[in-house]
Amino acid sequence: MSPRPLPGILDVAPYVGGESKVSGVNRVVRLASNENPLGPSAKAIAAYEAEKDELHRYPDGGALALRQAIAAREELDAERIVCGAGSDELIALLVRAYAGPGDEVLYSEHGFLMYSIAAKTAGAVAVAAPEVALTADVDGLLARVSDKTRLVFLANPNNPTGSYISEAALRRLHAGLPRSVLLVVDAAYAEYVTLPDYPQPAALVEEADNVVMLRTFSKIHGLAALRLGWAYAPPAVVDVLNRVRGPFNVSQAAQAAGLAAIEDRAHVERSVAHNEQWRAWFCETAAAAGVEPLPGVGNFVLLRFPGGQAQAEAVLAELKRRGVLVRGVAAYGLANCLRVTLGTEEDMRFTAEALREALR
Ligand code: PMP
Repeated sequence: MSPRPLPGILDVAPYVGGESKVSGVNRVVRLASNENPLGPSAKAIAAYEAEKDELHRYPDGGALALRQAIAAREELDAERIVCGAGSDELIALLVRAYAGPGDEVLYSEHGFLMYSIAAKTAGAVAVAAPEVALTADVDGLLARVSDKTRLVFLANPNNPTGSYISEAALRRLHAGLPRSVLLVVDAAYAEYVTLPDYPQPAALVEEADNVVMLRTFSKIHGLAALRLGWAYAPPAVVDVLNRVRGPFNVSQAAQAAGLAAIEDRAHVERSVAHNEQWRAWFCETAAAAGVEPLPGVGNFVLLRFPGGQAQAEAVLAELKRRGVLVRGVAAYGLANCLRVTLGTEEDMRFTAEALREALR
């Protein structure tokens, strides 16, 4: 008998990241991973470089300075923040700490894939609730809560749909959940959303004892390579996360770069403004080329193809041939769509032209 993993692990289809290379193509436009096309703040790069003489030292395992900087900037309580190696690590840790074999982890139909992957690797059952108009549906989610439900994950806005639920809907979802169920609101793209009904879940975290907010430095702060995310959680959940995480789960370079990034508001504002400008331009251009840009927020656009899966696949292949990498989202049950991260002006003009040609 060879060693066997826990039940569920071999049911997991491994997460496949966005492609980054095309053989035989010099200029590759990378729009498959929702990265910040402007890169990180120059101050974050300088802070990262300044760490190079201390690589033999362990990081601050409690990430105190970083947590204090986040708390100061976001007007939060540093004691309720836990940092992780990307929000992916925090998703996995939350599932492992609160769900096990036989338990259920609930998320919405087209929700971010790591929720079901994390559930299955913990031996738990991943339960998907149907969406309405590619948007998480509060009633649909609540109808699938059972006495086995331990966690509910909501990406708000969601990747890859770009849709979000309002403050009122989020509160209704929370109010309908048993207090024993942990509601995890993954706000990876929060900084990009400027609409007035978009909920900032920190207040709910502070009011309730079963709500966690997740955030990341991979998107607006352009630090995806460094793997840095954070959770804002009730004290009991903070205590649990601090028990289950590795003692040095976040590198010192990531902590230093993250601290500098969060203090560089000008870079954040530039990134948001760039995103808004090119979202509008790209949606208009894509629609004129004959594909439907779905309404959404975040640093990406979901395109729906009138010719369905066959057309989406053909366009994906043709864009790739031209060096433009976007994301196929069949794994999300959206085989008739492609997700395009908003890139630099040059990227977007090149991509729009390639899309026009591919649709000809
Ligand atoms: N949540 C959502 C909704 C995401 O789209 C992503 C990135 N693909 C993550 C979490 C994970 O981000 P990271 O681990 O880089 O912080």
